[in-house]
Amino acid sequence: MVNNRSKRGKNIGMIVAITAIFTALILLMLWQMQVKAQEVIKINQELQIEQEQNQELQDIIKEIEKQNEEINNELEELKEELERIELSKKQNDPNQKIAYLTFDDGPSDNTLKILDVLKQKNVPATFFVIGNEGRKDVYKRIIDEGHVIGNHTYGHDYKGIYKSPQTFFADVDKLNDLLEEVTGERTQILRFPGGSNNTVSRHAGGSGIMDEITKAAIDNGYKYFDWNVDSQDASKAVQSKDVIVKSVLNGSSQTNKAVILMHDAPAKTTTVEALPEIIEGLRAKGFIFKSLDEYSPGAHLK
Ligand SMILES: [Zn+2]
Repeated sequence: MVNNRSKRGKNIGMIVAITAIFTALILLMLWQMQVKAQEVIKINQELQIEQEQNQELQDIIKEIEKQNEEINNELEELKEELERIELSKKQNDPNQKIAYLTFDDGPSDNTLKILDVLKQKNVPATFFVIGNEGRKDVYKRIIDEGHVIGNHTYGHDYKGIYKSPQTFFADVDKLNDLLEEVTGERTQILRFPGGSNNTVSRHAGGSGIMDEITKAAIDNGYKYFDWNVDSQDASKAVQSKDVIVKSVLNGSSQTNKAVILMHDAPAKTTTVEALPEIIEGLRAKGFIFKSLDEYSPGAHLK
């Protein structure tokens, strides 16, 4: 009995001891797991901080790149502005030969071909356009490629436009509305159909009509341009290419500031053909090319 009792006592003691050891082991494991978990959380937090710092650095780099781009753009604009000033100076230098290529009565398919030549030769020009709702793409291309659009009235209808200054400027406004819709810009540069000295207008508005309209144009802030070199491409329905080239090159020998009249109406295919030779011939004579602006010579015929 005594033996049994002491055995049982020992067993209980062992069970208690083993349980205590297990419990201690489990507690130890749990504690270690908790320590590990805390380490993981800490590492994660550090990683997150690093990532945030990385992101901040990347944002700063992006910001610097953006500022760099802005500075480069501003430099580019300044360079262009300097070139413009340089050209304006040359425009006022009586010895500098400048050719102002001008094309009337477009837009048409010929305008597109002319734009191709101008792009290839890197030459700016001025287009005195009329209203053509079906060719809005062409007005846009003229502006997009750095050329200048002038107003040649919407209808180009002598009897209608030359009745009075009111009818004339209503037609000019109609074209400017269309231009503004397509290109976002109105134009203050003007060429009168037939030129400022045309006499056809008398049949519509009387003998003083061009005096009235030219004065009103200036009063309304327009600058009007005639020409001092006639390509003769309107003297015939289809003029010979050689006559056009010769007329321009001979005519330009008489002046250092050549405002050259040409046409890009649908029938004027030979003008397109003559253009490369005209540009090369003028370059050989020492001309540089410019589109018209408010400071350019008006080459007024009247
Ligand atoms: Zn015309």
